[in-house]
Amino acid sequence: MPKNYLYKANKMIFNMEIGEQVATYENKEQRQPLVSELWAISGKCNEFTSKKIAKKADLPIKWFDKVPSFDGKRGIKKLQAERGILLLRNRTSPFVEQFQHPIGRCAKFYKLTAYNNCNFWCEYCYLYLTFRNMPISTHFVNYEKMFKEIISFDRSDIPDMLRVLNLGELCDPLAVEDITGFAEELIPFAAKETYKTKLLFLTKSDNIDSLLNLDHGGRSIMSFSVNTDKVYQQLEHRTASPEARLMAAKKLQDAGYEIRLRIDPVILYSTWKKDYVDLVEKIFVYVKPERITIGEYRPSKGLVSHISSRFPDSPLLKINSGLISDGTKLRYPDEYRLAMFKTIIDAIMKHDKKAKISLCKEDIKIWKSLNLPINGLYCNCLE
Ligand code: SF4
Repeated sequence: MPKNYLYKANKMIFNMEIGEQVATYENKEQRQPLVSELWAISGKCNEFTSKKIAKKADLPIKWFDKVPSFDGKRGIKKLQAERGILLLRNRTSPFVEQFQHPIGRCAKFYKLTAYNNCNFWCEYCYLYLTFRNMPISTHFVNYEKMFKEIISFDRSDIPDMLRVLNLGELCDPLAVEDITGFAEELIPFAAKETYKTKLLFLTKSDNIDSLLNLDHGGRSIMSFSVNTDKVYQQLEHRTASPEARLMAAKKLQDAGYEIRLRIDPVILYSTWKKDYVDLVEKIFVYVKPERITIGEYRPSKGLVSHISSRFPDSPLLKINSGLISDGTKLRYPDEYRLAMFKTIIDAIMKHDKKAKISLCKEDIKIWKSLNLPINGLYCNCLE
């Protein structure tokens, strides 16, 4: 790799310093509960599970005949309307489906959709675009259908590498665990009823105490997405702090769960290099992850308007204008991606020379330039 990559990346400094205005907004919002209302759709919602959730959440259910429409709110009001609610309903589409990357930059892993959307407020969240027509955070409560599909997936003839069900593709599956108790039911179910299937929980939550004493049977992998304190403070509203996530990872590792980490999205800003090296140092204070997957900030082109309608002052709007087009996505130019990946990989290798590292949905030429194995065997979403 040419030596000037790091120099160039250091020159690409974006205005992402923590402003007083953002900090004030965040502090104010943190006082609101993650879920302030439970909604359900009459006749399209398992009543037993819904009532159980309402009891656990200590919230009344508001019943509707259909999902109420939106009135074009913007900013915080829009976020509160979409993500301050948890809608309970039955899932009619399959719970278990295979993921297909539009340009083949990812293995065809399997996902388990227990929630649509999320109650956290990350500014870069691609789900604002994915669920633009139905943006209310939703939990699917017809668990019997889901359990049947998991059994059928477990007994099907698929390659061992794909026997992981990813719960984090369309939600954060632990964000509202204290409200739903969903993982508390699913984890022992997988341990008892499946032979080969593993569950993958990808999260920015530290909502894990109820999972520590479960009989997980080694069938549930806990994967934490972590980032620098600056990215957290400025962009990851309402999530647990990176340090709290690592403390949660340690507790789960001590309880026998496999721990994986994602450093994603990596974002360039004035002190990025020091901050990401510090993050890696902090990771190894708490846990020794089985795998680490790294991904750069890579928004879909259509995401920009969804960010600006919710976070009109977001620093991401400035960052987006410096990215290059790559199919339907925007990305940092190759040399910047190489610089950020190399910095983080070098920091990881200082702690663990045999660390299993992969890049998320990255071009094969970048894998090769960094001498990473290109068969994707160590990806977050695979066995
Ligand atoms: S935790 Fe994940 S799913 Fe939830 S808001 Fe953040 S990016 Fe979106």
